[in-house]
Amino acid sequence: MTTKPNKPPFWRTKSLAQLSQPEWESLCDGCGKCCLNKLEDEDTDELLYTNVACSLLDIPSCRCTRYTERCTAMPGCLDLYADFPYWHWLPVTCAYRLLAQGGDLPDWHPLLRGNGDAVPSVRDFAILEHDSIVLEDHVIEWLN
Ligand code: SF4
Ligand code: SF4
Repeated sequence: MTTKPNKPPFWRTKSLAQLSQPEWESLCDGCGKCCLNKLEDEDTDELLYTNVACSLLDIPSCRCTRYTERCTAMPGCLDLYADFPYWHWLPVTCAYRLLAQGGDLPDWHPLLRGNGDAVPSVRDFAILEHDSIVLEDHVIEWLN
């Protein structure tokens, strides 16, 4: 008796542009890293992440509190599914960035592991933005 090879998962057979919205959404590991404020070094164009999260991020769950309306609720927030020309600013662990670069999902990804327990999220170090925060004081070395 021969066994049928397992069907490869959708993210290995489709390009990002071919994904349905549910497929796209399922690739997000919920790390919350993209919701951290960033600074750009004017001289080097280097992107510097801070530990200061968007005020609409629920840090314990790393979920947006107004996800479906995020682009109108927060100026500057992007709907990556609708508009994905710029992935370079995404953290190196982000599934969209990894796949855009021709890579694969890491073994801790919820789609492979079955849960989000091992996702390297911002839960333990992010703080919420507020008016008196000076972002330059909150630059972080990226943690993967
Ligand atoms: S960085 Fe990528 S994987 Fe993490 S929450 Fe943002 S979109 Fe999702
Ligand atoms: S509006 Fe929501 S998705 Fe957008 S940066 Fe803020 S918390 Fe993240």
